[in-house]
Amino acid sequence: MAVKTETHEFKTEVKQLLNLIINSLYSNREIFLRELISNASDAIDKLRFQAQTEEGILGDDTEFKIKIERDAIKNTLTVEDNGIGMTYDEVLENIGTIAKSGTNGFIEAMEQLNKEATMTPELIGQFGVGFYSSFIVAEKVTLLTRAAGSDTAVRWESHGDGEFTITEAEKDRRGTVITMELKKKEEGEQDFTDEWTIRNIVKQHSDFVAYPIVMEVEKDIPIPEEEQIKDSDGKTIGETTRKVVEEETLNSKKAIWSKNKNDVTDKEYDEFYQHISHDWNPPLEKLHLKLEGTTEYTALLYIPSQAPFDLFNPEAKHGVHLYCKRVFIMGDCKELMPEYFRFVKGVVDAPDLNLNISREILQQDRLVRNIRRNLVKKLFDLLNGLEQETYEKFWEEFGAVLKVGVQTDFENKTKIADLLRYKTTKSDGKWRSLQEYVEAMQPDQKEIYYLTGENLSALINSPLLEQLKSKEVEVLLMTDPIDEWVTQALTEYDGKKLKSAEKGDLDLDKVDEDKKDKYETLFKHIRAKLEDTIKEVRPSTRLTGSVACLSGDTFDMSGYMEKILKSAGQPTPENKRVLELNMAHPVMEKVHAMFEADKDDARLNEYIHLLLDLAVIGEGGKVDDPSRFSKLVGDLMAGA
Ligand code: ADP
Repeated sequence: MAVKTETHEFKTEVKQLLNLIINSLYSNREIFLRELISNASDAIDKLRFQAQTEEGILGDDTEFKIKIERDAIKNTLTVEDNGIGMTYDEVLENIGTIAKSGTNGFIEAMEQLNKEATMTPELIGQFGVGFYSSFIVAEKVTLLTRAAGSDTAVRWESHGDGEFTITEAEKDRRGTVITMELKKKEEGEQDFTDEWTIRNIVKQHSDFVAYPIVMEVEKDIPIPEEEQIKDSDGKTIGETTRKVVEEETLNSKKAIWSKNKNDVTDKEYDEFYQHISHDWNPPLEKLHLKLEGTTEYTALLYIPSQAPFDLFNPEAKHGVHLYCKRVFIMGDCKELMPEYFRFVKGVVDAPDLNLNISREILQQDRLVRNIRRNLVKKLFDLLNGLEQETYEKFWEEFGAVLKVGVQTDFENKTKIADLLRYKTTKSDGKWRSLQEYVEAMQPDQKEIYYLTGENLSALINSPLLEQLKSKEVEVLLMTDPIDEWVTQALTEYDGKKLKSAEKGDLDLDKVDEDKKDKYETLFKHIRAKLEDTIKEVRPSTRLTGSVACLSGDTFDMSGYMEKILKSAGQPTPENKRVLELNMAHPVMEKVHAMFEADKDDARLNEYIHLLLDLAVIGEGGKVDDPSRFSKLVGDLMAGA
């Protein structure tokens, strides 16, 4: 049989990644072992999952384990598993290219930082660098793998220097063996062929792995009495023990979620979190629950302290694993958590679950639905109970995700509304809850005012808020695109309607009816001149200092929403705005006088366009014709 051998270049991103990993993780290099063990454990999980529907795939190799082998003479270390293995194409796809979004996000983050020095192990840990971390300790890595159900194997080899070779090979059973030819050990460095070094690393980083991690160790065992060498008086004169090599399981495999809270230390909780999340930072909060009764389950959930870089990637993994009596059923079980809690990581163990449950029917499963409802309630309780400082930390990392729930979870809308935080015109850069806002409302204030827009500074200085500010009315400043959807779904809070400062009548002051009559024909004239962009010209109820602003009717699209849709390339329905003019402003007096004198005056026409430009600039927008604008203003200044 002709053996296929190919040499490939690593993708450039992988090369960059390799260098970065090797350099910045050097002082934490023992983590490579945790990464390889966790891959091995995943591979066994996958195989067990497949075996539920594909009988016979396991053959007689049914005792799952991960085996570590040391060879001090050859200076090698091997990690072997009897998991699912990989086919030729899978090796090509998984090892040496960037198939995973996580790694891609990592590269992006790296480019943004553009400085290796700022890449901390914690940051890198978020991405689960995985297999590549073996190059921190190895000069050369060989991966030999045979996929379950296949009779051919694949060998992948690389020095981690830009190239790898991949070739068809032979292997007597299913699974993956990774052999590392270790770099020469420098003075004072750990020896990865030493028994105790490996024992300690496994204990520290991989103790919770569900499968035995075994290693051959030398042991002194007692020599049985009758085999000992004795003198004529019957006294032992030779050795009483002898050295044997035995396979020993290094990890305790303990499922800490099934223990009592009091029997688990904080350190164990944190280590378990790191084990399931690959995040090196300790979690922000944890939730350990045991529920009995009709819906019986145990859960250990964590809220990370930092949002991962792929938080908004819809394909990013959900972090809750499902178990049944400590037997792994599946990872990333989306059905257990609503979308807006997708950052939660952890384990759910439900003893009454059908072991053969498939992803397809999981959604309809009553038990799963009940667990989910229950967990969501507990998470709300947890978040509501957090100290302000901790909660604000949470909010800054995950608030934008949580907001999705206002729109998607009708049942819990009010609970989520309680958790919302916004900066306001009066909060001085601090977060305010809607509850706090309502408590501080003006005596005659009936509605909760908000304004949406791209950034805080533009919002806080918006002319739209002049009147509200002068009346001491607080306004929520919303700068997340998702807020546009939040305000559509959340129309009231605590019996008070939410009202956009940009839309509809603000009802703060009565319009001066006499002036309104005086300006009526002028406003009609302006409307006619600007009819392509403006649907109406109105006396303003919002402005005090500025002369013009743009607003909308209650059910119109906000200016920010229009911008969001346009920048997302979405077709936007025609959305003409209202031009509001401040009748109390001296400029209006002048314009009115010009209009009275000669309504066909060319300068009047220019001023009308200038009024519109001023309104556009006031909301941080771009004027249609900047050169006309600057010429007009220049002429005005020269004339002044
Ligand atoms: P990650 O584990 O974060 O996905 P890795 O670079 O460690 O990233 O691995 C990439 C992919 O290679 C894995 O997702 C898996 O599909 C495959 N893989 C790695 N190690 C093994 C193994 N021991 N057995 C089977 N597949 C593996």
